[in-house]
Amino acid sequence: MGKIVLLDDSTVNKIAAGEVVERPAAVVKELIENAIDAGAAKIDIAVAGGGLASIRVADDGTGIAPEDVLLALQRHATSKISEASDLATVLTLGFRGEALPSIASVSRLILSTRQESALAGTLVEIHGGTIVRHGEHGCAAGTEVRVEDLFYNTPARLKFTKSEGAETARITDTVQRLALASPQISFSLSVNDRNVLTTAGNTQLFDVIHQVYGRANSRLFLPLKWQGPLLSVSGYISQPALARANRNMQSFFINRRHIRSPLLSDALQTAYQTLLPRNRFPAAVLFIEIDTTEVDINVHPSKREVRFSRERDVYRQVLAAAKQSLQASSLVTELSPVYSAYPARRQSEAAQFFPAKLFEHEQKQHAYHPVGGLSASQEQPTPELENFDLKEKDAFPLLQPVGRLSDGYILAQSENKDFYIIDQHAAHERILFEMFRQDVEGGNLPVQSIIPLKLELDAITAGALTAKQKIFADLGLNFEVFGNNTFILRTVPLFYRDFLSQDSIMELVSAAGKEHDRASVFEETLKMMACKSAAKANDTLSGEEMANLLKNLRSTHRPYTCPHGRPTVLVFTRAAVDSHFRRR
Ligand code: ADP
Ligand code: MG
Repeated sequence: MGKIVLLDDSTVNKIAAGEVVERPAAVVKELIENAIDAGAAKIDIAVAGGGLASIRVADDGTGIAPEDVLLALQRHATSKISEASDLATVLTLGFRGEALPSIASVSRLILSTRQESALAGTLVEIHGGTIVRHGEHGCAAGTEVRVEDLFYNTPARLKFTKSEGAETARITDTVQRLALASPQISFSLSVNDRNVLTTAGNTQLFDVIHQVYGRANSRLFLPLKWQGPLLSVSGYISQPALARANRNMQSFFINRRHIRSPLLSDALQTAYQTLLPRNRFPAAVLFIEIDTTEVDINVHPSKREVRFSRERDVYRQVLAAAKQSLQASSLVTELSPVYSAYPARRQSEAAQFFPAKLFEHEQKQHAYHPVGGLSASQEQPTPELENFDLKEKDAFPLLQPVGRLSDGYILAQSENKDFYIIDQHAAHERILFEMFRQDVEGGNLPVQSIIPLKLELDAITAGALTAKQKIFADLGLNFEVFGNNTFILRTVPLFYRDFLSQDSIMELVSAAGKEHDRASVFEETLKMMACKSAAKANDTLSGEEMANLLKNLRSTHRPYTCPHGRPTVLVFTRAAVDSHFRRR
């Protein structure tokens, strides 16, 4: 006898539910997307018990005609496409007609809806896929869907859900991203009767960013607007100062649909390459508009991922967009974007500067071309891909010191009369960091014996040091075990000798000891050494020292930030200064 049977509808729906609504946040997403597709101006969301106890989504959209209500709850019933060829150009968020029946099959769902012109509305209640109530119902225009006891009849799925807190966090994240995607819609979210988010629905993306990320963070977002041959990009990306240890603060939208995309994250990260420390990720809210035929949204059950037909081009254009925004604003003040069209210095030149004596070193003459930043107002960077060589951003003008501002700022002027304020400590840190790194990488780190320094460490730091003894030795720091969490330091790099102290070496060992791999220990150690050796804010530098510092900063790979990612310079372009004083 044959073994093949046709599954009944209820089973099919439960299987679909496993794909479409794998957790409460997915239900919230589907319901909100339906509200958006229905043209809602206001969407109120309320959840309790992590969404497992109840989810309520109410909108003021078109509503559903009485005769369509039961249809909407059937599988593959959709008002959004009518044939497969529509898939290529679909602009609505939903299109598979799976969400409502899937949700209804794994919960107790109550849908009430009324079209604005209709006198009466409709209510339908479904328990685990079975209609238990259906009829006329008085209600406000729009649609309200209540989902209670989610997964009550699918214990396996219920078991798979996380704690209430974790599910609530996902729901909040989902609502935040949908709110960012639709600044024209007013969203409100309450969790266990407490309001956690309200957006104005005034079309201003920045206002939504402010609501979602808070005032202090929102100040660090830079606007971005870019038009390329294949796509356009708009939105906000963060200044390096807002970078986080993960990518949670990145939202990408393709034709207004939120998606996750390693490709886009990579493109964004590459734009920050010279501005961010390792493992730090910028925040972003980016909208990419692209011809619907260039992107396939139907590759993932919950439409979380997309496939681009021209990945390389998408990558390059998004990179170019982000770089332009950073070039225009992040390195400098909002008042005075600076853009420079000249290539960076050659790598090897960094090594010629700064032997152990920091400022006494006589500068060699360098065959630089005369270089100066061009202000954005004079010449906008053209968004042609060929012009976007990453190194270009590092071009740094030749600066003449013109004075100082206490504590610790050098005032300087470029050849084309832009005005610069330089943080001498941050700038010096950058110079020393690159010099030290070059020494280490080149294997010619000058090391010096010192009067042995005894270090008594706590057990954890001692353990870390023991594990990394060899790595530290390669950095010129030779520690000898002296027993019982005690070590003797016998050598240090030459450049560090004068700055050595019990405290600084303890700090260095405990910071670098926390790192796991060799490269990170190196980097952390070099950063610490650079920081300790660099001129302090209250050091008064002579004119010659300032001039040397500026020349040396210009020769680094990343002159605009210190090794910790903080800015080194602030620029007021000549154009901005003139315009402020109404000279033009
Ligand atoms: P899809 O969104 O893929 O079409 P759904 O199962 O989510 O499938 O919804 C089925 C249909 O029900 C939709 O095509 C739409 O016509 C209708 N619908 C669902 N939610 C709403 C709503 N909030 N307002 C108006 N119509 C809705
Ligand atoms: Mg839908």
